Amino acid sequence: MNAQKPASLSNTTVSNSLTKTPIRVGVLGFGGLGQAAARVLASKREMLWVAAADRKGYAYEPTGLNPDTCIATYHSKGSLGYLEPGGTLSNQSIQDLLEKTAVDGYFLALPNLPNTFMASVARQFIAAGWQGVLVDAIKRTSAVEQLLKLAPDLQAAGITYMTGCGATPGLLTAAAAIAAQSYTEIHSVQITFGVGIANWEAYRATIREDIAHMPGYSIERAMAMSDAEIEALLDRTNGLLTLENMEHADDIILELAGICPRERVTVSGVVDTRNPKKPLSTNVRVTGRTFEGKISTHTFTLGDETSMAANVCGPALGYLKAGISLHRLGRYGLFTAAEVMPQFVH
Ligand code: NAD
Repeated sequence: MNAQKPASLSNTTVSNSLTKTPIRVGVLGFGGLGQAAARVLASKREMLWVAAADRKGYAYEPTGLNPDTCIATYHSKGSLGYLEPGGTLSNQSIQDLLEKTAVDGYFLALPNLPNTFMASVARQFIAAGWQGVLVDAIKRTSAVEQLLKLAPDLQAAGITYMTGCGATPGLLTAAAAIAAQSYTEIHSVQITFGVGIANWEAYRATIREDIAHMPGYSIERAMAMSDAEIEALLDRTNGLLTLENMEHADDIILELAGICPRERVTVSGVVDTRNPKKPLSTNVRVTGRTFEGKISTHTFTLGDETSMAANVCGPALGYLKAGISLHRLGRYGLFTAAEVMPQFVH
């Protein structure tokens, strides 16, 4: 029999379309990930990129910012504050943006250096009486623990904060939470990532934070290193950073979601800072026992052609859209990448 495929549902039905008005999005931090987020946003009709901040200034345009001119200004002059029109130089760019602009949700593409920085930014939003959605791609378990302590304050303030919503934690953690459903008991979740970037300067915070995981290093030490010292270290390792048993928030996020105790979650990876080709395929392996008593492993592997930027910014914006849905339902507080499904942004 020639079964006919049913006509596909209209885009508005399947996209869980929120409203006809695009979500006004801001990006805090305009380095590697912030710029990539701006490029991803340019193709979205459900979101409008209206604001961004870096360390020395911010840009705001209620009808939408142009990624090309913003990125060109950032590279040639060192700050979005020089953008004309729309730029403002400021040493307190985050504070200025949140007080002076109309933004529904922010992607926090900021360095978490020191390890308390992201929590301090969250406190800034709470203190200002700002309401909306915040999404981070934070990496360390101890950084998520700080945000957990802020959950009641975020809730009282009317902020929906989505944490750990990049690639790892983020996409891979959520995939692990889904994979776990085949089992009645989870024995291990092993995340192994491979990142290839052409030069470390495009992702300074990411590389500094990764160095902090190496034996003999700490967040304080990595933060205090000059660019020349980082280059000297990368020269010694031929541009490669090999990271094992990292303190990564995938563990606490899966524990909070009730998947398994955090000790069963391990994260390691290899970062090549001199070659955009991934040194290995990023994957998550979830091993468990089924109800029939069989031990098995599900493996979810990311396509090698997908960059770190694609695998962080796509999910972060998907979680931002999900956060907006929650916010509109009056659901505030702290949510993790394993607790909420990201929504695809059109
Ligand atoms: P980067 O160093 O390229 O850029 C950081 C940006 O933040 C710069 O524009 C800088 O001016 C701005 N900034 C710094 N301090 C600021 C301040 N006080 N106010 C306003 N702006 C400020 O950073 P990156 O490499 O894009 O990384 C950003 C974050 O993303 C890092 O914390 C990194 O660990 C995280 N990350 C997460 C994942 C994941 O999968 N979860 C993957 C990669 C990176």
